[in-house]
Formats: sequence, structure tokens, C-alpha cells
Amino acid sequence: MTHVEWQWRERSSGAPYRQRVSMSEAPAPDEEFLALIEHELNCTACKVRTDGAFCPTAAELVRAEREARR
Ligand SMILES: [Zn+2]
Repeated sequence: MTHVEWQWRERSSGAPYRQRVSMSEAPAPDEEFLALIEHELNCTACKVRTDGAFCPTAAELVRAEREARR
């Protein structure tokens, strides 16, 4: 059974915002993952790394993304 609830989400900049979350459904692309993708598109340090390593900021995003999946 599915229900919808509101959750507060933190943003790296700006005020926290409220997001409607559908529970018990397949997870949507989570914002932590999207933040990581966005970072890699904009981060010079990540662009020059071709060995799959992360810059410290990206490493933090990866850690947050993994924690969000627990
Ligand atoms: Zn980076």
C-alpha cells in the first residue's frame, strides 16, 4: 500500500524545503545521486580525473548518496 507524506529536505544553499514523498514505491532518482551527477558536470577537479577517483567534495556526495540508500 502506498501513502504520501511530506518530508523536510536540506539544501546545501538556501532554506530547507518540503517535498512530497511517496512511500512504498520504487524510489525516484534520489536527489543525492542527482547532486553527484551535477557536481561532476561542473567540477574541474572531477573532470581531469579519469581514474574514477573523486575530489573531496564528490567523495562527500558519494557518501551522502550511499547513506540515503540505507
Ligand atoms: Zn569534484
